Amino acid sequence: MVADLASGFDRPGGSWLRRQVFWGWVTGFTRTVAGVAGLALCMAGGLPLAVSAGEGLGLAAQRRGMVEAIEEMVAETRMEIGKDRLDPQVMAIMAKVPRHEFVPEDVRASAYLNRPLPIGYGQTISQPYIVALMSDLLAIGPEDTVLEVGTGSGYQAAVLSGLVKDVYSMEIIEPLGRQAKARLERLGYANVETRVGDGYYGWAAHAPFDGIIVTAAASHVPPPLVRQLKPGGRMVIPVGSRFFTQYLMLVEKQSDGSVKTRQIMPVRFVPLTGEH
Ligand code: SAM
Repeated sequence: MVADLASGFDRPGGSWLRRQVFWGWVTGFTRTVAGVAGLALCMAGGLPLAVSAGEGLGLAAQRRGMVEAIEEMVAETRMEIGKDRLDPQVMAIMAKVPRHEFVPEDVRASAYLNRPLPIGYGQTISQPYIVALMSDLLAIGPEDTVLEVGTGSGYQAAVLSGLVKDVYSMEIIEPLGRQAKARLERLGYANVETRVGDGYYGWAAHAPFDGIIVTAAASHVPPPLVRQLKPGGRMVIPVGSRFFTQYLMLVEKQSDGSVKTRQIMPVRFVPLTGEH
């Protein structure tokens, strides 16, 4: 998989879903989504309607194709991630959140490809596989409160919104933060609160958190975030530099306040910026 990351070119062979290596910002390999299946799904449990009456079956079918591509990639990476499948609830949410609403008009046709896409200001919406994997690794439940660092488009926050009680999300680039806030409000994600600011320092007013997800690569695990994690809580964060290998890390805070870390897999994220 690391070789895939480094090659940067399409890889020959594979199934009818053409294997495609993506030298992108998030993770280094994707599968082109060509398969379409499934039916329109309605959101349950008081969540916003992901498939509105006007959306039609096409987008829901594309989302099913995206979910299948995620499942295939999970199977390919099972040795690294230590499991054959992700939490069914995470996968169900992935099939419902309208990713096309979170990407700019000019890349909307690619919204359901399993790949990161540009969202402006040099930033990206993460690859769906990575969004699903990071959500799964948090091991969160319906009563939990989660902090996201790196709101970007708001897509990851929308996914988390369907899994937990409250989501707090911080974005350092002001226009992106403003746009994401408006988008999340328009789409009805009422349990997501956003703020513009440097997420390295967390959001103390709402701490401690059951889970913290950082969607930009840090050079180290930020100590303020460890402090804002509940004992028993988990943080998922890419760690590494812009030019060298980054690893997706799972940080688990023990009941005595110490932390256990586990390297999950090599990834490629935009950097965590700010003055620290
Ligand atoms: N989660 C986003 C989504 O679903 O669209 C994608 C995140 S993008 C890969 C990383 C984001 O982290 C960028 O929008 C970037 O501006 C933001 N970021 C970088 N450093 C940050 C910091 N110190 N605090 C908050 N956000 C930061």
